[in-house]
Amino acid sequence: MGHSPGHGSTPAGDRTGEPSRSGRHPAYRIERLRHVVTVDENFTILDDTTIEIADGVITAITPRATRAGKSRRPAPSGEHQRSGAAPAQEAEHEPEVTVIDGRRMLALPGLVNLHTHLPMTLLRGLAENVDLQGFLRIVWAAEGAVMDSTTVHLGAELGALESLLAGVTTTLDMYFHHEEAHLGAASTGLRHVGGPVFFDGPGPDGLTWAQRLDILESWPERLQDLDRLDALWRPYAVPDLPAPTVPAALMPHSTYTNSPAHLRDLAAALTSWPAGIPALIHVHVSENAAENTDVTTRHGATPTQLLHATGLLDGTRIVLAHGVHLDDDDRALIAAARPGASVAHCPGSNLKLASGALQWERYRADGIRLGLGTDGCSSSNDLDLWATMRQAALLARLTSADPTAAPARTIVEAATIEGARALGLDHLIGSIEVGKRADLVLLDLDQPHLTPAHDLAALLVFAAGRGDVRSVFVDGHLVVHHGRHTTIDTGEMLAHARERGRLAAEAAKDV
Ligand SMILES: [Zn+2]
Repeated sequence: MGHSPGHGSTPAGDRTGEPSRSGRHPAYRIERLRHVVTVDENFTILDDTTIEIADGVITAITPRATRAGKSRRPAPSGEHQRSGAAPAQEAEHEPEVTVIDGRRMLALPGLVNLHTHLPMTLLRGLAENVDLQGFLRIVWAAEGAVMDSTTVHLGAELGALESLLAGVTTTLDMYFHHEEAHLGAASTGLRHVGGPVFFDGPGPDGLTWAQRLDILESWPERLQDLDRLDALWRPYAVPDLPAPTVPAALMPHSTYTNSPAHLRDLAAALTSWPAGIPALIHVHVSENAAENTDVTTRHGATPTQLLHATGLLDGTRIVLAHGVHLDDDDRALIAAARPGASVAHCPGSNLKLASGALQWERYRADGIRLGLGTDGCSSSNDLDLWATMRQAALLARLTSADPTAAPARTIVEAATIEGARALGLDHLIGSIEVGKRADLVLLDLDQPHLTPAHDLAALLVFAAGRGDVRSVFVDGHLVVHHGRHTTIDTGEMLAHARERGRLAAEAAKDV
């Protein structure tokens, strides 16, 4: 366990002061941010505002106008370390505070990618110009050839790194060898939600159904152990730090790869999970019309009706990936599900595979919660949630012939707080508010394509992109700064990824 796929790590703290080697959670003050898009309930936007972070939490958000002359000038060098704001004689009692100059920056909550398969970064570009079923044939062959646990760890780490550099701080990730995927992704600092994946067949990990059920039973406790001992914040070596809360997830791949009897097994197994641990189900649903026809022909029920009938739609929070082809009855079942069902809209994948167009406004009118996902890199080719935001807005407008559909504010909410809500994490993340965990992104606004900034929500959806992300905090850790990861040296990791990618391409050629 804890295999490292060979990339080197620079000693933590070399570039940014992250982390505190004393074992204390680092503290930050981001001074005089030009704008803060809080994504709170009123979508409040603040100007010239300072954000303070301590112990992983946002402790203060202070617009300059309210500071009654107490503000100080930011350091001209952009950032430096100093001991709090206290007088020198009190310095030893104050945590060290790293100050970041925010004057050319916009802060927004970290983005939530509500559906992906991180290790499939290694299969990017291997299944092109095919429909979903053709895509699956090629991908499954490549996966069978290369996706052992070591490669899954590497692919998850690579995907997590791409995600963080793009301002994605939380990812719902479905993949085999889920422990290695979790360890690989979380080692970068990403807030990674994963769990055991279920197919009727053996899958690349070769497990039987009974073995999968055994693993499922122990997953919540195992996840806690992994997070406490091995994975989250491992680069920071901070002892005694409680891991960020992520739900324990259970991931039946779909209703076309799991029989109704097996889906009932999973619903029953969930009842054995310890109380008090947040649980989540993640499943592909009605991605394209052929899937609906297949499932309805075999079982006399739509995928959503099958989930309902087998006891998976209600009782546990659930995220339905894609949901492109949901009929009126499906949508009524989803809207009524408790404690809550959400749809992870993946427009990039749906457009590229010609799977169809989700009816954004109709779904919202029916009371369905919509978050955004990229899907895996083998179908949508990147983990860029900025592109996803834009695709979602444009697709909704095109298909409804209504330029007021999917307003930019709604799209930003879908990529942040609505994603957090879908995961049951909205009390912790998804908006910039005092008391929430510090998952946030700083964009550099001093660029031609972001100037002037008349409508910030529209700027984020229609003009900004992942290349504008300069700094990223996850749970109060500065994991990306100056556009680079703060601890991971990518060179060797990329070489390994290229090597595994070559083997995957060989396997895909024979399909
Ligand atoms: Zn998927």
